[in-house]
Amino acid sequence: MAPTGKHQAARDELDRLIVAHLDAHPRAQLTAGDIARAIRRDKGSVAKALPRVQLAGLVVGTPTKNPYGSRPMMLWQAAPKQRDRSIVTCKSCQQRGPHGGRGLCTICHGRHKRKGTLTQFPLLGNPHKDKKPWQPKQARSRALVRDYEFLIDQGERNEEALARELGCSVRHVQRLAGASRTRQKEQPALQTGEGATP
Ligand SMILES: [Zn+2]
Repeated sequence: MAPTGKHQAARDELDRLIVAHLDAHPRAQLTAGDIARAIRRDKGSVAKALPRVQLAGLVVGTPTKNPYGSRPMMLWQAAPKQRDRSIVTCKSCQQRGPHGGRGLCTICHGRHKRKGTLTQFPLLGNPHKDKKPWQPKQARSRALVRDYEFLIDQGERNEEALARELGCSVRHVQRLAGASRTRQKEQPALQTGEGATP
């Protein structure tokens, strides 16, 4: 892991303070000056940090009419989705914070994304993990699973031969295999009494 410089650490700390302050006041729309006063930091650094934090998707800036000048005034508030994120111990800075992806807090995720170094942190888990495998619903499908299991018991392992024998596609043989595995896992709990194994 790349060492984090002192300068970088100070910048991350500032980003974190800004996000924490806006998060604590979800309905407030604040100027950079308001935020700087609240977190006791230099207004210039806060003004410079805000667009960076916005790029990370943590805050939202809205340009409004400036009563004191011609340039529009930015009002800042917490990004709404911030609330739904789970809290993780970040793999980069080791601090607890809202999850930005790849086991990183949102601040570090934003930084690594900007620097193009995101790939050194592997993606977490399988996105299809919670997707339920195919399950036989009709009597005909359930019978096919039993026929599949019978053929497996007979020692047939070749998917193409199984497909020919069962009159279905190779892809469906793979579905039957998955359904059979699920059935065998669930059977002791269900106690169907049908084809019970010791
Ligand atoms: Zn982090």
